[in-house]
Amino acid sequence: MSSRRQKLLPSKNLLPPLRAWDGELTQRLVQAPGEFGLGRVPEKVKPDSTTSMICGFCSTGCSLNIHRKEGEAVNLTPDPDYPVNIGMACPKGWEALAPLDAPDRATVPMIREERAGELKPLQWTEAAKIFCDRMKAVQAEHGKESVAFLSTGQICTEEMAFLGAFAKFGMGVKHGDGNTRQCMATSVVSYKQSFGFDAPPYTYKDFEDSDVIVLVGSNLCIAHPIMWQRVLRNKNNPEIIVIDPRRTETAMEATRHVPILPKSDLRFFYGLANVLISEGWVDREFIEAHTNEFEAFATHVRSYTPERVARHCGIDADDFRQLAELIHRGKRVSFWWTMGVNQGHEAVRTAQAIINLALMTGNIGRPGTGANSITGQCNAMGSRLFSNTTNLLGGHDFAHAPHREKIARIIGVDESKIPQEPSWAYDQIIDGIESGKIKGLWVIATNTAHSWINQSRARRLLDKLDFLVVQDMYHSTETAAHADLVLPAAGWAEKEGTFINSERRIGLVKKVAKAPGQALADFQIFRLLAEQWGEGEMFRKWSSPEAVFRILQKCSEGQPCDVMGIDGYREIDEAGGIQWPLVRGESLDARERRLFSDGRFYTKDEKAIFLYSDPVDPGEVPCGDFPYLLLTGRGSSAQWHTLTRTAKSSVLGLLSTNDPYVEINPEDAERLGIAAHDEVELESRRGAIRLRAVVAPTVVKGQVFVPMHFRCTNILTFAEFDKYSRQPSYKNSSVKVTRL
Ligand code: SF4
Repeated sequence: MSSRRQKLLPSKNLLPPLRAWDGELTQRLVQAPGEFGLGRVPEKVKPDSTTSMICGFCSTGCSLNIHRKEGEAVNLTPDPDYPVNIGMACPKGWEALAPLDAPDRATVPMIREERAGELKPLQWTEAAKIFCDRMKAVQAEHGKESVAFLSTGQICTEEMAFLGAFAKFGMGVKHGDGNTRQCMATSVVSYKQSFGFDAPPYTYKDFEDSDVIVLVGSNLCIAHPIMWQRVLRNKNNPEIIVIDPRRTETAMEATRHVPILPKSDLRFFYGLANVLISEGWVDREFIEAHTNEFEAFATHVRSYTPERVARHCGIDADDFRQLAELIHRGKRVSFWWTMGVNQGHEAVRTAQAIINLALMTGNIGRPGTGANSITGQCNAMGSRLFSNTTNLLGGHDFAHAPHREKIARIIGVDESKIPQEPSWAYDQIIDGIESGKIKGLWVIATNTAHSWINQSRARRLLDKLDFLVVQDMYHSTETAAHADLVLPAAGWAEKEGTFINSERRIGLVKKVAKAPGQALADFQIFRLLAEQWGEGEMFRKWSSPEAVFRILQKCSEGQPCDVMGIDGYREIDEAGGIQWPLVRGESLDARERRLFSDGRFYTKDEKAIFLYSDPVDPGEVPCGDFPYLLLTGRGSSAQWHTLTRTAKSSVLGLLSTNDPYVEINPEDAERLGIAAHDEVELESRRGAIRLRAVVAPTVVKGQVFVPMHFRCTNILTFAEFDKYSRQPSYKNSSVKVTRL
């Protein structure tokens, strides 16, 4: 372990002109964006009006002031009064308008009449008819369940609810999932099992109030730069502990980096729990009053001694004890995790091992504490409650008859149309294509052919479908290349609705720009298709996003996420976003609110549960011909997911690179005869790719790191899934590295 901000800056040989993956640079980008050309607008353009709205990239949920001239959005600045970002934005936020003007925007519906043929334009009326006729034909031949959808955490809550309701209650589709399965399904299941509901308990103010901040598998500094700024505003001189196999930008800035071996995390946290329990460093009063199963958990972790765990995790046993002591000494300890935990083969139990630490030390429900999952996409949290996939609308249970009855009544749909079980997960839908059970697929605002694990198989299976519809802002995505029908969608800022951010804050998206050509808001596309399908009557009241918001409020009533107390969009706007819950009559005096301050959880007896299992080894480990472990993750603060939007900004292009590269440890590079910028081949059992070498001690010997953003990355990844959440593990593939 290293301590007290011991920096190890990446090699000077890192790629191009500016390195947005340098933590210090990202801070400068946030604090002085003008220096880097971010958000620039020619002097002569003087805006005449300003509208604020939530950013459309990540789950932080910053508010941006969009400046307009003669009705056109010309520039933006971060909103200084919004409680989330307090006047700051990361590079993506500053460049949020740039992707709207890209030349490859989908502007008209397009049809591909032959598999390898060109896409040809057509009118919306024809496109809607083709969509319905062909989906119905697939269902007539193979059954209603043979059509599925794959959606996203990028569209507004009202849109994803419309999609989920229309597909399931209107089209009779049983299986639909979102790309949110790839980033935060683990957190959903962990919270549901441990707390009784999917309820991230925190508010961002907790970053500022902690005296010990434990970041697990989270490169906050570049993945959530504004949250990192909130950490930097902490006046308590906090201990910042980063638990991560890589020396990430955040690890370089931390007071203590614990570079455990990849996927040794579950044993690591059981070991920490064991030290805390055996030293008596637990909060007995809290445990007894507010939890169940602690004694069984204490017995379970007894064999995880510091020596055994340290050996397994590749760290020093004394350092390990010191770490437990640091947690014990903290008065307000907050635990945060993200993809390093969520994308693992035993991710749910790992997240729950973190939750257990917070519970046993009484670090929950108070300022500066919490077991806090940070999610990814701007509206992943909306999807968790209202996509109608894993949960019935409003966090309800498809299998629970009173829940089905309640939702049927609110929606005005016959209860028999509501499935009695949740959808298949993403991987099951993909498997369903292979087995011939899924024949028609509707992909909305996600890029399966790029981001799904073991990509070559996913692409091959997309071509096996009878009918593939892609609904997206761009006709050029890797998935659209496989589509039979492309439906052009408006982007962020070209439509309205709400997003819910990581701290449960509902914020507004507004229409400040006109979508190009005939592109329509996803909301309008769903209305059009529902009408054409013959289910227009079911959605007659779904006349506008705000009308749907009011329906969703009713779905939330009585649930932990109850938002009946919100008086419409205007109140959300005036309040600076509103965190759920806000029940009818509840006052809105606190702008930042956390859960569980009364120690009451959402289980039947209102107690949280200690959950645990025996760890298992990952399905693929480095050996023989594939001796290196491949880690994937966020490349820089200037890149977003599959680059469909961020690659459209020339400024973001200067701050990062779209040329694939791999980080290799200097000792490995020397042994393999690889110098910086050499072309190398990475090969796994699933395929091979070529990249440039970045020689840097950011990875330890025996490991390599490739950003997830490149279209080739997932050719290599090994498809393994957490058994509870079915989230893919993107962080344990084995590869061979060869200099070309
Ligand atoms: Fe947008 Fe996230 Fe950047 Fe904030 S941190 S500006 S929400 S991308």
